Amino acid sequence: MVSFLDLKEQTREILPEIEEAVRRVVRSGWYILGPEVQSFEEEFASYCGASYAVGMANGLDALTLGLMALGVSAGDEVIVPSNTYIATWLAVSHCGARPVPVEPDPQTHNMDPDRLRAAITSRTKVILPVHLYGQPADMDAIRAVAQEMNLKVLDDAAQAHGARYKGRRIGTDADLTAWSFYPSKNLGALGDGGAVTTNDAQLAQRIRLLRNYGSEVKYVNSLRGYNSRLDPLQAAVLKVKLRHLDRWNTHRAKIASYYDRELADTGLILPHVPAWAEPVWHVYVVRHPRREELRSKLEKAGIGTLIHYPIAPHEQDAYKDHGWSPDSFPLAKRLAGEVLSIPMGTHVTEEAAGAVVAAIRSLAEV
Ligand SMILES: *Cc1c(COP(=O)(O)O)cnc(C)c1O
Repeated sequence: MVSFLDLKEQTREILPEIEEAVRRVVRSGWYILGPEVQSFEEEFASYCGASYAVGMANGLDALTLGLMALGVSAGDEVIVPSNTYIATWLAVSHCGARPVPVEPDPQTHNMDPDRLRAAITSRTKVILPVHLYGQPADMDAIRAVAQEMNLKVLDDAAQAHGARYKGRRIGTDADLTAWSFYPSKNLGALGDGGAVTTNDAQLAQRIRLLRNYGSEVKYVNSLRGYNSRLDPLQAAVLKVKLRHLDRWNTHRAKIASYYDRELADTGLILPHVPAWAEPVWHVYVVRHPRREELRSKLEKAGIGTLIHYPIAPHEQDAYKDHGWSPDSFPLAKRLAGEVLSIPMGTHVTEEAAGAVVAAIRSLAEV
């Protein structure tokens, strides 16, 4: 039996540190923003190599308020991947703007910079790449197009805490980077959490206002802001977990290279990692044309799997009114039908990875 995810195990490993952090917050009497949030912001910014981090309530808000801070509003267009978690698109829609999907590079599953130009119109404001599965997108190529066309870039790093692009950590390659600390992410809270990182002092300040009723001084409101603050309890937990992130990511990388090696001749399509990418393996995604068959056989063998993601955003009822047909984005549709995530995380021991590999190899025909 190998479960797909085991958050209880990760928490158990660091329980004394977590309990100490929670006790500190409970006893402090400071339950909104304050020193815990601020010190986490400083530590996370420094981890990413960014000048500023602003803690927020969740990843969707980090994306949405990030786009608002970049000036996205009704009538604008934002370029998004056709294959991503729907939150990336929802953030655009919640600004009143229109998500304009581009198809991925079929090898990396990430935004294909060569397809960007054709999607840009006079209404385009922002390019929004996603570091899907913890694999960095090709930021230099994307930024080059953005610069040429005078567009902003916001990257969705909800799956990429600690990933490196050409040696530097994700978090400073765009105007703004949006993060989620949803519990199952590589850096996850014990509840919801999110952040943006940036090197731009004005953008950071604008988001600080937006997340807190548009207010810096109590009862003085300079913007029509929102309530989207990172909880101090979660900030304290995240500070503890940040200390372990590199070790956890190294473990994930070790399991990934084991899978790479042991599954190479099985007929599965394995992840492709460009030479400049150091992914953090939020999930390890294989592809197979008869994915459902593979999935149910693995389930019978006690191996937990998930699908990231089974329905492409353009095929969701939420986007019915945009008038796309299932075949409008054939690559996204095809990937949704073929991808399968196998167990990955700090709970996957070498022995467990061995069991996953053995189960896959034992199938008469993969
Ligand atoms: C998790 C995730 C989000 C949303 O984060 P929440 O904290 O759940 O709001 C956005 N984009 C991607 C790619 C994600 O994986």
